[in-house]
Amino acid sequence: MKNRTGLVWHELYMWHNTGNHAGIMPAGLNVEPYRHVENPDSKRRIKNLLDVSGLSKELTFIDPVSATKEQVLRVHTDNHVYNIESANETGGHADPFSPFGVGSYDIALLSAGGVIQLVDAVMNGDVDNGYALVRPPGHHAVPDSGMGFCLFCNAAIAARHAQDKHGLKRIAFVDWDVHHGNGAEAIFWNDPSVLTISVHQDRCFPPDTGHVTDNGEGEGEGYNINIPLPAGSGFGAYEATFDRVVIPALEAYKPEMIIVPSGFDAGAYDPLGRQMMHSDGYRALTAKLMAVADKVCDGRIIMCHEGGYEPTTVPYFALAVIEQLSGHKTDITDPFMEMHGGLAGQELQDHQDEYIQRAEALLKKIS
Ligand code: ZN
Repeated sequence: MKNRTGLVWHELYMWHNTGNHAGIMPAGLNVEPYRHVENPDSKRRIKNLLDVSGLSKELTFIDPVSATKEQVLRVHTDNHVYNIESANETGGHADPFSPFGVGSYDIALLSAGGVIQLVDAVMNGDVDNGYALVRPPGHHAVPDSGMGFCLFCNAAIAARHAQDKHGLKRIAFVDWDVHHGNGAEAIFWNDPSVLTISVHQDRCFPPDTGHVTDNGEGEGEGYNINIPLPAGSGFGAYEATFDRVVIPALEAYKPEMIIVPSGFDAGAYDPLGRQMMHSDGYRALTAKLMAVADKVCDGRIIMCHEGGYEPTTVPYFALAVIEQLSGHKTDITDPFMEMHGGLAGQELQDHQDEYIQRAEALLKKIS
């Protein structure tokens, strides 16, 4: 089946300047300057592959409009917004690992605004689903600060917009970035109107967060589901996690929209993760989410780009996901698939199964 799939893109997303850190480390007299790991390469190469494959022609391009300060302030504090805005002319840091350049406040507003535009496009029926290829990323930003290369929590800002403008009562996040979706967890910790699910590598980043026992508090208790997976997890572990926890949680919660903070750093060669996902795996997980979205929310699913730092492989993961969202298969096959798929341990392992069992126990709290 063919869908009308939106793609949010703007060249300025690529101009967010993260400078000359060596990977994640600030350069100095003991660290030779290099490139920051969160640079435009993987994102620009996604756009290029969409163009070369012909898939771009099948998508509905959505021009982002900057988020307003009021929209950002629905999830962030005055102090945080002021800190980023006041460094717009000079550049600054959200944390020691998260530098930003001149104009990054404006680009961050455009990034959040892009996800908002995608929400509107889906809610207005202009598209069926979509992918916001935005930058800077957002899913580590907490109410009072940026973190982990993220300035503003784009997906959370868009979710609050969906509630305020479109009256949605129940929104579900499925964050498959290899790192914990701590931003949405913090923002919606007490709030049952947003079910936050994060599938991530156990204690990768932020350090010591994302525990399976962290489930929200007050009215929000039970509506935050962390599924940490041990390093070395392959598609088998991801598939089991989705079949046994993520999909049943969505079926129980019945969201009116699914938002996927989509990082591709669980990919097999990523420098900032130690998992073994591959393009067929991302395609399959997308199909599972689309099936449940068809069942509970008229197929309303949007994805917004987060991490993914291996610039040669990430574009094929994104191509697979956006092919699946749109129902258009291109002639491009992933040249890395054979190597990724052939890595030993792609099947679910017993010790991974134990992690998933602990998360399965959380399902009974959702209604
Ligand atoms: Zn990440």
